[in-house]
Amino acid sequence: TSVQSGPLRVAVVGASEVGKSALTVRYLTKRYIGEYRSDTDMLYKCVLQVDGAPQSVEIMDTSASSDKTSDPNLPWAEAFVVVYSITDKESYQRAATTVQELSERRASASVLLVGNKSDLGHLREVEEVEARTLALTHAARFAELSTAESCTSVSEVVDNFLKEVKAQRNG
Ligand code: GDP
Ligand code: MG
Repeated sequence: TSVQSGPLRVAVVGASEVGKSALTVRYLTKRYIGEYRSDTDMLYKCVLQVDGAPQSVEIMDTSASSDKTSDPNLPWAEAFVVVYSITDKESYQRAATTVQELSERRASASVLLVGNKSDLGHLREVEEVEARTLALTHAARFAELSTAESCTSVSEVVDNFLKEVKAQRNG
């Protein structure tokens, strides 16, 4: 179908202040700036190398203020990056609810659960094993990482995820 040959559409969702914008900008530009607009959704359209071939990709960095696009079941997207902060238990609970809802309502969507801010281990409120287990239960991918400190892990984790989304589409 035309959908399958169109862009890979990825929504970045989660509680506010967990680093959705930082992660998105880090992935797309390799840079970490630190402060981002949080009052609006941002839609990035680009062509990326996915599994060795050019692929158009659209990434929506959602914001809390937009009801429409902060809907985790956002029909626009075929893949979801669900972000929480390891320093914020509430953000994890919200992410867990989203992952569960997606597995119930959007079974064909690919999901990547990201525990961000792993550089702040001294403020940790969420155990890695708990999140990893949740992801496994719902056939989601999982990574803990620091958008602030590591460019490489953000690239690797998201590159691998996009590869899987593409493979799922073609498979
Ligand atoms: P959003 O509301 O989810 O889009 O969150 P932002 O991307 O605006 O980030 C919220 C705050 O967390 C900003 O002050 C960022 O600089 C900070 N932040 C983002 N990622 C990290 C990280 O990996 N480590 C630390 N220590 N701070 C981060
Ligand atoms: Mg934001």
